[in-house]
Amino acid sequence: MSRVTGLAENGSNPPIFVEKQRTPMSRVTNSDRLSIRDQAERFLDTHGFSTPPLPPDQALEARNLEVVQLSLDDILIKVNLPPEEHEKVQAMLDARERTVAFRRGLPEQKKRWGALHEVAHEFIPWQRDILYCCPLLWLPAHVQRQFEAEADVFAAEAFFFGQQFHKKAFVGDLSLATAIELATDVYGTSFHATFAHYVEGSPLPRCLLVWKPKDEGGSARPSGELELHYYVKSKGFLGHISPGQIADPDGAVTKLFRDSSPGVINHEMIFAGMSGQGYVAQAESFSNSYNVFTLISQPTRRSTQPVGSLDACRTPRPA
Ligand SMILES: [Zn+2]
Repeated sequence: MSRVTGLAENGSNPPIFVEKQRTPMSRVTNSDRLSIRDQAERFLDTHGFSTPPLPPDQALEARNLEVVQLSLDDILIKVNLPPEEHEKVQAMLDARERTVAFRRGLPEQKKRWGALHEVAHEFIPWQRDILYCCPLLWLPAHVQRQFEAEADVFAAEAFFFGQQFHKKAFVGDLSLATAIELATDVYGTSFHATFAHYVEGSPLPRCLLVWKPKDEGGSARPSGELELHYYVKSKGFLGHISPGQIADPDGAVTKLFRDSSPGVINHEMIFAGMSGQGYVAQAESFSNSYNVFTLISQPTRRSTQPVGSLDACRTPRPA
């Protein structure tokens, strides 16, 4: 395995790592997550799904849900959703009619995920009881957000077979190569979904950084810059890396994307702390040609410089 230098330590700006940052309150708490996992496992047991992969069409069939070829926009007009909100809706369940409609032209992976997401709305008892009487879009915004987040957790837990995933995924070393194998050979799920689930469940402190080409305001010519789109971290990972930061143009992440390199590369990633100190994390990166995924260990402070020396030199601003 090659060792490539990560983001430059000097010269261009390394991404900023904030060591102490309160984790924002999740819409789905850990105890909710466990009860949704129970629901997903009950769904799998009830319908005899015992080994991956889970075929989404069979999941819909098991719940007696029919996919209808109706225009989603027509349905959304009926439920009084303002036209500007239509684009955000990719699929919709009619709990009473037992039908699911998908947005026309939805990419296959999104459709597969959407199928299980809609099954969740129909299967989770506390959602089903309400949605039978009232469409989701008529519920108060905070309830909608809660139900949507729960449905996504259910979809993940169902696709990854609840606790089975943890026994399969965390037996050897934690690595992107293992996660790629799980996505392609075992679960038939997208890299995004598999990597995120892998990192969220990781027993070790790990963080997944997802980079995407910087959007130049609709310009057809991409700038070649990669922007941190979002990150997902395990329970034990401490700190915050703000989305929107640009990867070093000469660093491993940008190079991997620019060269369309196949496979996983190992490198180091250097971060700048808020007070000027450097942090280093072991990293692995992989590109699926749309995004670069970087899995990092907990960044640790570089000890070559006396800690806090930069702070000590600063002159306090006059009051
Ligand atoms: Zn939904």
